[in-house]
This record gives sequence, structure tokens and C-alpha cells, in this order.
Amino acid sequence: MIAENIQTINSTIPNTVKLIAVSKTKPFTDIQVAYDAGQRDFGENKVQELVNKTLVLPKDIRWHLIGHLQTNKVKYIAPFVHLIHAVDSIKLLKEINKQAKKYGRNINCLLQFHIAQESTKFGLSLVEAQEIVVSTEFLQLENVTICGVMGMASFVSDQAVITTEFKKLKEIFSELKSTAFSENGNFTEISMGMSGDYDAAIQAGSTMIRVGSKIFGHRNTN
Ligand SMILES: *Cc1c(COP(=O)(O)O)cnc(C)c1O
Repeated sequence: MIAENIQTINSTIPNTVKLIAVSKTKPFTDIQVAYDAGQRDFGENKVQELVNKTLVLPKDIRWHLIGHLQTNKVKYIAPFVHLIHAVDSIKLLKEINKQAKKYGRNINCLLQFHIAQESTKFGLSLVEAQEIVVSTEFLQLENVTICGVMGMASFVSDQAVITTEFKKLKEIFSELKSTAFSENGNFTEISMGMSGDYDAAIQAGSTMIRVGSKIFGHRNTN
């Protein structure tokens, strides 16, 4: 089923859109099945679980940290992480930069924006991001590459609400791309869309969708 689900999704999305298989809570064996079907990009939201999985799974997997990241946990993923999706403060960026430097590498990050109505979700406003990206602290970061933006739509059934929120993230991306990041050729990604809303996200300009349950089945929440 997992292999078929991946094939089905890949055959219905434009090939310019990258599929991140969100494997949080799922066992190694499920990830191996997806890997054997050709999937290489996987997303996890907990640092400890992510680290445990990297120890036993193939080394050429590109691991994406898609959940909220605490500053004191950056060091655990710094040696290998491919892309950190949910960066929403200069404090976190500075720590990522410090740890990246320690391992002699560059770490790719996305700036997370708050686009949903729900107040519980993390993320920046456009104004907050604009303040960060012109700050001296930000301009001194040498081991971090900002590759684009990330956001999550409200968890509602109203498609119009979801579409409006995705369009807002696209607008934020375009605004930053034409100003602060106009000289940054790496600023190309818009990470938006999950199992229930990735079609709407792609319509609105997503370049990266993060899909879990539609590949691996429902998760037991605990
Ligand atoms: C869990 C999660 C997903 C995937 O959710 P599904 O609805 O299972 O596709 C995507 N993005 C983030 C940030 C998540 O935490």
C-alpha cells in the first residue's frame, strides 16, 4: 500500500513539486518500504525520533525536520539534517548557524509563517521576518541558507479559508523574493500542503508538500 500511495501521489502532482513523506510515529519498516519504492525525502517532527531513525535507515535519505525545533536540540540534528522547515526566530537561526559551523557544513532552512487563523501554531508574520532579515545578526550568519518559506493552513473543512491562507504564504514568499532575497538564488521553496489540502496548496504555488497519513495511513495520536 505504501508504495502504491507514493506512486499515486507522484503521478498526480506536477514534477516540479517535491513530495516529503512524513513518517513521524511510523516504524522503520514502513520507511524502508517507502525508500524501496524510490522515496528519498522524509519528514519528522521530533528530534529524538528523527535521530533514532537515521541510525538504522539508509544513509542517502534526505531528512527534513518539519516540526517546531527547540534551540537546545539543534546540536543533535546538525550533523545530517537536509532541511529545517520551521524556523521562526533569530535565536534559533543563530544556534543553527553555530552548530552548522561546528560540523563544517551549511544547513538549509525555511522561515515558518503564521498563516492560519488558529493562535496555537508557530510562525512569523511578514513584518517580523522583514525585521529579522535586515538585522546585522542575520546578515552575519555564514553557515545557514534560507531556501524559502513554510506554513500550515487552518485545520478546517472550508476550502476557501485554506486557499486564502496558502495564497497569503505565496504572497509573503513573493514579497521576500523580490526584496530581501532578490540576490539569493537558493530562495525558491514554498513548503505548504499536507494529506488533506495539498491540491489546494499546489494550486496556490507550493513547491514542497508534506504528506503523512495519505502515504502511511492514520497515526495513533498519543
Ligand atoms: C504531521 C505533519 C504533516 C503531515 O500531516 P498529514 O495530514 O498526515 O499528511 C505535515 N506537516 C507537518 C508540520 C506535520 O507536523
